[in-house]
Amino acid sequence: MQPELEALLVLQDRDQKIRALRQQQKSLPTERAGLEAKLASAKQLLEHAKQRGKENEVERRKIQLEVEGKRGSIARFKTQQQATRKNEEYTALSKEIAHFEADIQGMEDKELELMEQSEEIQETTAAAEKDFAKSQSIIQEQITKLEAGANAATARLAELEADYAKLASEIPEETLDLYRRLFVKKGDSAVVPLESEICGGCHMKVPVQIGSQVRAQHLLTQCPNCGRILYRVI
Ligand SMILES: [Zn+2]
Repeated sequence: MQPELEALLVLQDRDQKIRALRQQQKSLPTERAGLEAKLASAKQLLEHAKQRGKENEVERRKIQLEVEGKRGSIARFKTQQQATRKNEEYTALSKEIAHFEADIQGMEDKELELMEQSEEIQETTAAAEKDFAKSQSIIQEQITKLEAGANAATARLAELEADYAKLASEIPEETLDLYRRLFVKKGDSAVVPLESEICGGCHMKVPVQIGSQVRAQHLLTQCPNCGRILYRVI
């Protein structure tokens, strides 16, 4: 193979690797943000469960205080009942007592309901806590891996770029220009194999004379369809 073609193929290999690494680096912030969002959502579930737990406790405490207050009132009504000699007042106090006792019954039912809820909330909180801890360790590990990969990619990229510059300096300017224009335009390859007269870039059959030129290897031959530089596969 012509030394020029060989040099272009090596250059293209570096170019393709550089391109792949740059694409990988581009996707990094999105990947990282996705992992962080996952963790934030696990944390939110945990915070929500904890908040429900707090609200439940506050509500129960409030009911307990109200029940205590009503019990105090009932005790006072009973003392008043014992002191009074008026039937009307006695009956009125009895009504009040019955009314307050009914209230207490209702509040105690509500308290029981809240206690049952509290058990369920505690289970949910424990599960959310476990899930968050697990997510945190897994996601942290993934982020660390991602960062290590990114650092390795940056180092590799610097190596490849230095290698590319060195290789490029050894290729005639005109050839390099043609190669660069093709690589940028096509995005994937500028130098492709010709197999059974088929261009490895656009997969079109080339005219016979082009095939002969590629086989003769005395100059750089381009595919008449896509413009890529062709080389013969032995
Ligand atoms: Zn082609």
